[in-house]
Amino acid sequence: MSMRIGYGWDSHAFKPGVPLVIGGLKIEHHSGLAGHSDGDVLLHCITDALLGAVSAGDIGTFFPPSDPRWKNADSSIFLKTALEEVATAGYRIVNIDTVLILMAPKIVPIAGDIRAHVAELLQIKPGDVGIKAKTPEGLAQENTAVAHCTVLLESIEAEADLETMVAVAELDDSTQTEMDSVVKSLVGDKPLGTGLERKLPVFDTDDIT
Ligand SMILES: [Zn+2]
Repeated sequence: MSMRIGYGWDSHAFKPGVPLVIGGLKIEHHSGLAGHSDGDVLLHCITDALLGAVSAGDIGTFFPPSDPRWKNADSSIFLKTALEEVATAGYRIVNIDTVLILMAPKIVPIAGDIRAHVAELLQIKPGDVGIKAKTPEGLAQENTAVAHCTVLLESIEAEADLETMVAVAELDDSTQTEMDSVVKSLVGDKPLGTGLERKLPVFDTDDIT
């Protein structure tokens, strides 16, 4: 199996009278984020993390700010393009994790909504999206929103290969009998090691405070 990791970072300044959009959601606030597009700092950094994971450049490569087509653009368009690049490279998302750094508004009460919306845009489960928020203590950047993101991808072929192996093994019962006798000759009749059967405790990913 092949896995890849990606990292993204973005920042935008707050501007009074502009709609605030984070993670594709319109958020009630007196200021929004200034930018050539809708200024969605979270979707921009996720887009960069996805493109970086498959070495496909960055958001500016695909959507230069000098291009008038992207004036006030919905940033989900950028994300969609990054998803296409990931799929073209033969990968899919395992999970993403993000950090938002901004003084206001408070993100905790709306983190669940942002997570659900980002998961929908990425076509993954909300439990595979981490949304965390910090205030910029000691950074003197009260008028700025910053976002960081990491993504983990896995190759699509890996699962297809595994399914083929399972299908072949199921087709031929004698193969299974042969494998059983080989295993027996190696470990006797003892059950195989307990490590693999051990279940990890379930982590409640809905609890994001
Ligand atoms: Zn941006």
